[in-house]
Amino acid sequence: MNTPTTSLQAQLDTMRAAFARGAPDRRQRQRALLGLARALRTHQEALLQAVDADFGGRAHAETLLLELFPLHDQIRHARRHLRGWMRRRRVRSPWFLLPAKAFYEYQPLGVAGIIGAWNYPILLTLGPAIDAIAAGNHVMIKPSELAPRTATVIARIVDDAFAPEQVACVNGGADVAAAFSDLRLDHLFFTGSTRVGHLVMQAAARNLTPVTLELGGKSPAIIHDSFDLERALARILTAKLMNAGQTCVAPDYVLLPAGREAEFEALARRIVAAMYPGLAGNADYTHIVNDAHHARLLALVDDARAQGARVVDIGPGEEGVSSAQGRIVPPTLLFGTTDAMQVMQEEIFGPLLPVVSYRTLDEAIAYVNDRPRPLALYYFDDHRGRQDEVLARTRSGGVTLNDCLYHLAQHNLPFGGVGPSGMGQYHGFDGFVTFSKKRPVMVQRRLAATALLRAPWAQRQWLLNVMLRIASR
Ligand code: NAD
Repeated sequence: MNTPTTSLQAQLDTMRAAFARGAPDRRQRQRALLGLARALRTHQEALLQAVDADFGGRAHAETLLLELFPLHDQIRHARRHLRGWMRRRRVRSPWFLLPAKAFYEYQPLGVAGIIGAWNYPILLTLGPAIDAIAAGNHVMIKPSELAPRTATVIARIVDDAFAPEQVACVNGGADVAAAFSDLRLDHLFFTGSTRVGHLVMQAAARNLTPVTLELGGKSPAIIHDSFDLERALARILTAKLMNAGQTCVAPDYVLLPAGREAEFEALARRIVAAMYPGLAGNADYTHIVNDAHHARLLALVDDARAQGARVVDIGPGEEGVSSAQGRIVPPTLLFGTTDAMQVMQEEIFGPLLPVVSYRTLDEAIAYVNDRPRPLALYYFDDHRGRQDEVLARTRSGGVTLNDCLYHLAQHNLPFGGVGPSGMGQYHGFDGFVTFSKKRPVMVQRRLAATALLRAPWAQRQWLLNVMLRIASR
């Protein structure tokens, strides 16, 4: 019987057997990464079209800037630094183990599994795969079923670039994803919602499979009163409206000094109109991925309005957008929201921006700290002392000061959440480490002091006394 479980298990067995015949060396890994870069270029047009079709309208520029550019950049970085990352590193031995030598090195784990989300369907599957391949693993990828055309092109890219026992792509629905997370993998890397994150970790726990969970949350953007509001807003709205807000690190809501609301609204209208002169028929403005998410966002607005929020559609030109023009949700500000509103309880994942007014910085920090730890935190302020204070008094997966999103693109910084926004990290060296075992090795010499550390203990009591005296000095 060919259930998802049996065919996935057969795939895993093939890959594990291939890995057992020998893990890829540095040159093989670099060649594999180069092959992936070539296949990405060959299929670039197909990828742009597929993502566009999956969203019912996704700006090609966004796919190029936010998915393909980062993947090529990540491949280049990994290929260039792989030799250094793989280097064996010597460490000093403690006095009681001298003259032994000690070192550690990063060893591939075996077969890693990757489950991706739909919002950046190329980046969130092939990005972790690059780190896993650089670390010398074989990799099974399960793209999201909510971006099915893109998933088909990813499968073609994987087929073109790799031997099937080295990297494989399996497609299918949530049942396949669930069976995938049940596999006895050597590492399971999941990007998606906190809700499904729980299920993935439960399934992995049954096999003691280590997990990295890249989840979401409500990422705040705090604007200090002293900061140029126009500069802050241009950056916040750029980040919020890329992919129509369907970004894990998009600013979810703004904390704004009380009394600046009218100025905020006027500036926001101007900035949005400059970026998107119209929404309907504008290929730069990405649509909502499916009807369910579209309806969810409209319901969030209705619920907030019904409970007394002031809802301001800042989409330029049109008086509202009809559903005949596609799944468009206009950029929308929400003032006067409360915790009772659904929009303040769940990650928005769309172009709605609640604006929460605060009186003191203490109040803004307390607001953030009263809520689950977010994936990202943004703070706009040029004052070093206050920047340090906000950093010291808050917790989040990552931070960008005076801008949004871009900490994610720093090769030399780890990327990942904390608490309900995720666990573990990747990107650059940190991704290489995530998919490796940092294996310690000690090399004993012919003559070793440890020869004294054995029974009969009555004759060695003096030695233990000396050791304890030295260690407890
Ligand atoms: P989702 O959790 O609904 O789905 C993610 C993946 O889980 C899909 O590929 C799906 O096939 C799979 N899945 C579904 N049921 C499963 C099960 N029972 N067991 C195992 N896998 C299962 O998330 P989504 O809607 O695709 O993505 C949106 C969420 O992802 C948001 O919360 C967003 O913040 C988060 N996200 C996080 C990051 C990050 O890097 N931290 C990046 C992008 C998105």
